[in-house]
Amino acid sequence: MKKLFYFLLFIGYTAISQNTYMHCGKLVDTKNGNVLTNQTIVVSENKILLVENGFLQPENEADIIIDLKDKTVLPGLIDMHVHLEQESNPKKYLERFTDNEADVAFKSTVFAKATLMAGFTTVRDLGGSGVNISLRNAINRGDVIGPRIFTAGKSIATTGGHADPTNGMKKELMGDPGPKEGVVNGIEDARKAVRQRYKDGADVIKITATGGVLSVAKSGQNPQFTLEEIEEICKTAKDYGMTIAAHAHGDEGMKRAVIGGVTTIEHGTLMSDETMELMKKHGTYYVPTITAGKEVAEKAKIKGFYPELVVPKALEIGPKIQETFAKAYKKGVKIAFGTDAGVFKHGENGKEFGYMVEVGMPAMEAIQTATIISAKILNAENELGEIKVGFIADIIAVNDNPIENIKTLEDVIFVMKEGVVYKRN
Ligand SMILES: [Zn+2]
Repeated sequence: MKKLFYFLLFIGYTAISQNTYMHCGKLVDTKNGNVLTNQTIVVSENKILLVENGFLQPENEADIIIDLKDKTVLPGLIDMHVHLEQESNPKKYLERFTDNEADVAFKSTVFAKATLMAGFTTVRDLGGSGVNISLRNAINRGDVIGPRIFTAGKSIATTGGHADPTNGMKKELMGDPGPKEGVVNGIEDARKAVRQRYKDGADVIKITATGGVLSVAKSGQNPQFTLEEIEEICKTAKDYGMTIAAHAHGDEGMKRAVIGGVTTIEHGTLMSDETMELMKKHGTYYVPTITAGKEVAEKAKIKGFYPELVVPKALEIGPKIQETFAKAYKKGVKIAFGTDAGVFKHGENGKEFGYMVEVGMPAMEAIQTATIISAKILNAENELGEIKVGFIADIIAVNDNPIENIKTLEDVIFVMKEGVVYKRN
């Protein structure tokens, strides 16, 4: 008996965990839209244990203090639209033929790390080859440093559609990809493609509802699914507890996606007033990706950066997104934060905030799109997006108060994910 007592005492003793006391000069309360001053966050393992006024002193000798008294502290940011398997460069179209899956995987670890270091502790990966699923698992295991990933695996398109993987290839290579490869025609295929993604281990479904800018195809905006196909995809996805993201530039395809039941509209470039009203009615979120739009328009001016078929689309569609965002915001469409990083350099995701604020969204609301709102879409509003007791300890810091200087979010100086410090400048 006595032996057991001492044994328990020993276990109890060693189980006292080391807590981290973070002294925050300013702290952004994303829920209430306030900036609090002089706060202490106590982190125990991967969770937030306490948030208190003033600078609390540790209780145990093992505890540590992180001094952020002259910084502004926020919850880890969420980007709802990234592609961690790739990063735009003039050789990208050739890399489809030269890179092995392992090459893609190694590169993706670099992009994942850059994303986390920029303060984005959670992302939604909206389409790749399927390596993005293995990347998510590797990060979850702790083998690779990167953000928490909710991934779509491989996007779903129609034949010749934006995410048809053999677009622009010669006939022998084109083949006839089907639901497994992400190409559907008709409702049977649509259902099968969703189920296949579930089997592959995807968390969400991504469809390319209209043409896109960077695919080697003529139209950047034509509708590419029938309403019935979209409805079947959404219905099936919901059976499996998955939400649906729809890439859309043209208005008709966008409208079908909203009516069909998608959760988010990505890019939304040529969104009409009618579609904005429809989105409000259906509760559809808009994920603008202004940064990608601006970036493709810039890169299209460099000769040879994109294939000839892509250049006019990039010049026409790219610059319009910011304007559409401004209009949709004023009309009251629900907005979530997304950049399409991968179309531009990973780690520059924070630029999007400046573009949102530049055309009329208050800084606090822009921050909320990348925290509480995105967390809600990910069904993680009870553990992500706020600095609150019981939430996951994803915490970042910047030099200035972002409400006064939104650009400070482009230079994140401290990153903690699940209680582990990854960056401390
Ligand atoms: Zn994208």
